[in-house]
Amino acid sequence: MSLIKDLVEKVKAKNPAEVEFHQAVEEVMESLEPTVERHPEFVKANIYERIVEPDRSILFRVPWVDDKGNVHVQKGFRVEYNMAIGPYKGGLRFHPSVNLGIIKFLGFEQVFKNSLTTLPMGGGKGGSDFDPKGKSDNEVMRFCQAFMRELFRHIGPNTDVPAGDIGVGGREIGYLFGYYKKIRNEHTGVLTGKGLEYGGSLIRPEATGYGAVYFAAEMLNVKGESLEGKTALVSGSGNVAQFTCEKLIDLGAKPMTLSDSSGYIYDEAGIDREKLDFAMDLKNVRRGRIKEYAEKYSGAVYTPVDPSLDYNPLWNHKADTAFPSATQNEINEKDARNLVNNGVKVVSEGANMPTTPEGINVFLDKKILYGPGKAANAGGVAVSGLEMSQNSLRLSWSREEVDQKLQGIMKAIHKAAYETSKAYGDAGNYPLGANIAGFVKVAKAMLAGGVV
Ligand code: NDP
Repeated sequence: MSLIKDLVEKVKAKNPAEVEFHQAVEEVMESLEPTVERHPEFVKANIYERIVEPDRSILFRVPWVDDKGNVHVQKGFRVEYNMAIGPYKGGLRFHPSVNLGIIKFLGFEQVFKNSLTTLPMGGGKGGSDFDPKGKSDNEVMRFCQAFMRELFRHIGPNTDVPAGDIGVGGREIGYLFGYYKKIRNEHTGVLTGKGLEYGGSLIRPEATGYGAVYFAAEMLNVKGESLEGKTALVSGSGNVAQFTCEKLIDLGAKPMTLSDSSGYIYDEAGIDREKLDFAMDLKNVRRGRIKEYAEKYSGAVYTPVDPSLDYNPLWNHKADTAFPSATQNEINEKDARNLVNNGVKVVSEGANMPTTPEGINVFLDKKILYGPGKAANAGGVAVSGLEMSQNSLRLSWSREEVDQKLQGIMKAIHKAAYETSKAYGDAGNYPLGANIAGFVKVAKAMLAGGVV
């Protein structure tokens, strides 16, 4: 058996039941086969086995009190994955599905993603099985305080800098940071995604969605094409989906769908600026369901989730491009085939690992432009890195400055992924290029650091 296959089997045996983690490790490791031969020094230092094991996994109890006085207990996680190239950096996810395997898959991906950004950031991820949906602001605040009551001792501006992810937006970061300041008595850049008034960066909320669109534009550019006039299928309706739509509209493309965990809307006429403003207010302020979009705009059709289907009908509409921006494994093999059969030529992943391995194979076989999450959605963490720089410098850069840096970083990520895929004999295989480029930098840093 090859070193890589052997390692994947070992990871599965040593970490039973962590299926998302197995999936992420297998996807990355399989594309690293060619590096085994080219870099015998990595094999000698056993970098492959060392890189799949997190530096540490912190698991803790989070007790909190609801508005009626009932006491609840949630699980808290912070996986500090790899510090070879910089402080641990990665978001916090609050969602009932969160478990150790999901946090480890996200942390593992984050290591390579952060490496690709060109900025000095290691990888980490955390979160809780707490569900903010349907909770009052006071309940969310009490939960965030309880979560930070343990997390504070593990993080720091030079150690570990969390940010948002699913279920953790501006409101949650505000409560987490407020409590950190209270118990630590210091105002440092220990979290990113902060509000503008207290150390946040312009363009941070927009960065992941904008970045995914910039990445799609870069992939099209290689073929001499642009996004102008192209139709787009977008899933999710949270942070990433909203700003993906915004940038698509800015660049003259036409987003036609949005979704949440209850269903999706299809608006053939396109989601324009006014409709997007409605959706943003609906999701961010009123915290409602996407169904209301179709109640407001009669041209749009709402389809509720049908658990009996083995595909997602959102991906079964005629379109030129697709931007999965909700969650992991939201595009299976059948969805991937539906996308290709409906004319989709570009898939740029705003979400983390939204496509199953079988779905990825369909995209690669059909040679469509496929930007994997760790490259396409790296704009969010890149601007988080810029927020850390601004906090250290005690400066605030303008919107234009940050947006320009974001565009430069997305171009650099695209170039690294594309050039690396070419150097390894498969030009345009972005998953291959992104995995190898992200890995080699971290591996070299680990090698330089000795056996630690
Ligand atoms: P939000 O919480 O803002 O939005 C998540 C959206 O996805 C919501 O519409 C939510 O619907 C939907 N969703 C979540 N879980 C499921 C599920 N199991 N099934 C169906 N729909 C679901 O999160 P973000 O927009 O921040 O994150 C979206 C994706 O982007 C995630 O994969 C995240 O890891 C990734 N990402 C985010 C970054 C960021 O900067 N925020 C950076 C890089 C990647 P509902 O409201 O019904 O739950």
